[in-house]
Amino acid sequence: MDKTRYIFVTGGVASSLGKGIISASLAKLLQARGYKVTIQKLDPYINVDPGTLNPYEHGECYVTVDGAETDLDLGHYERFTNQPTTQANNVTTGRIYSNVIEKERRGDYLGETVQIIPHITDEIKNRIKLLGNESNFDFVITEIGGTVGDIESLPYVEAVRQLKWEMGKHALVIHLTLVPYLAAAGELKTKPTQHSVKQLLQLGVQPDILVCRTEHPINKGIRAKIAQFCNVETSSVIESIDTDTIYNVPLLMQEEGLDTEVLKKLDINDNRKTNLTVWKSFLKRVKNPSYEITIGLVGKYVELKDSYKSILESFIHAGAENNCKVNIKMISSEKLNEENVEFEFKKLSGVLVAPGFGNRGIEGKIEAIKYVRENKIPFLGICLGMQCAVIEYGRNVLGLEGAHSSEMNSRTKFPVIDLMEEQKNIDKLGGTMRLGAYDCQLLENSNAHNAYKTIDIKERHRHRYEFNDKFREQYINSGMIVSGVNPQTNLVEIVEIEDHPWFTAVQFHPEYSSTVANPHPLFVDFVKAALNN
Ligand code: GLN
Repeated sequence: MDKTRYIFVTGGVASSLGKGIISASLAKLLQARGYKVTIQKLDPYINVDPGTLNPYEHGECYVTVDGAETDLDLGHYERFTNQPTTQANNVTTGRIYSNVIEKERRGDYLGETVQIIPHITDEIKNRIKLLGNESNFDFVITEIGGTVGDIESLPYVEAVRQLKWEMGKHALVIHLTLVPYLAAAGELKTKPTQHSVKQLLQLGVQPDILVCRTEHPINKGIRAKIAQFCNVETSSVIESIDTDTIYNVPLLMQEEGLDTEVLKKLDINDNRKTNLTVWKSFLKRVKNPSYEITIGLVGKYVELKDSYKSILESFIHAGAENNCKVNIKMISSEKLNEENVEFEFKKLSGVLVAPGFGNRGIEGKIEAIKYVRENKIPFLGICLGMQCAVIEYGRNVLGLEGAHSSEMNSRTKFPVIDLMEEQKNIDKLGGTMRLGAYDCQLLENSNAHNAYKTIDIKERHRHRYEFNDKFREQYINSGMIVSGVNPQTNLVEIVEIEDHPWFTAVQFHPEYSSTVANPHPLFVDFVKAALNN
């Protein structure tokens, strides 16, 4: 296409309506017509990035290839579009302000009074346009976090208003709202949607398309009413009904004509066919599995599933690849001990020990690994899960009493996991870990090599501690296999053990790169091993 088109997605009435999934679904539909699409998330909080946020606050922190710590919605974008995102795809108020303040300190504003309008809004607009200018995308979909009417989203909505005015037919606003069902009245209610659109109108923004989240089908009459009161065409009122899997949403949006409506509103004459073959075949396997297994996920954030979002989605992809439904049993590492581990693991076909930080629940994770190692239950350890596997092996096989990570016990006699050299002089928390994609070379005929079917891989990291090289030989001599090593730094990235059906632990995060089109090979082989168990 000659020029990039910009699509803004705002939300009203309530949070958690699924703006991220709607944005990703629209991207999928446009991509399936052959367009180049990217999605961006603007988050109205003051943290410079979500890296310093507790998963209880905001769910998982997702890491991009270029090492940005970002909002978990970027994970959905990648899983749906099978395209990498970067730092530019996630911008927070904190980043916007720190940039503007830095410029002010440098004297870039030449004595001007620096204000929210125009300086903050200009910075927001630049961040949006940057994506289109630099990478030749046909469409940039920008999702505005939060809900219209929040104080903190005001500068974003103002930036959208200005861009829409400047760009005319090259920009469009989709507003996602809720149409609640009142059981007592037996009716769907449109008033919250009307109010939410009024709120947008007060800020000068007329939405072009309304996506209405609902538990019940929205009939013609309701569509007409919403259209009339919100100044949109009836065909621009799109129903987004609850569904059992998020992977259904692109097809539901296609049925509702979201993509055709977008193209029409942007004056794009398009009669390309939509190719969703891969997607549909994936969905078919998700819905009609031949097998079913349960895998235990041992972690400390078990109450909030969003904390392990990418891991859970990776199991859906890998399950589909194996024609298998994978149920996940969340197991609190804090409550797990020598007495109850057998009972807790009784019906499990495999166990994953999750990433994490700090001491809480660490002994439960180590206990879990001892059990699966001794009882030959397929095991995948990720990041802290890998470090725990090393600690467990040190304590129980090498006899290194009290072996630990120096993160948890700085005075241990056997710091088998220790701070990386490059981390030693770092005193700030934000954005300072070993982050993003690094090379890794695999050992031939290892589990890892069998899964990836290649020697040179690249995977995303997020950690400060590493396998302590001083102990490497001792481990290798006692049956631990180092099956993945960084070729530049020689850091240990993957360990396995001999004489076990499938025991693989990785320092990196495979879950960040699993997508519908490319299920992650380690998850695929882990599920396969669990299925054979
Ligand atoms: N806390 C560990 C480290 O910093 C592991 C991090 C993680 O699991 N992401 O190295």
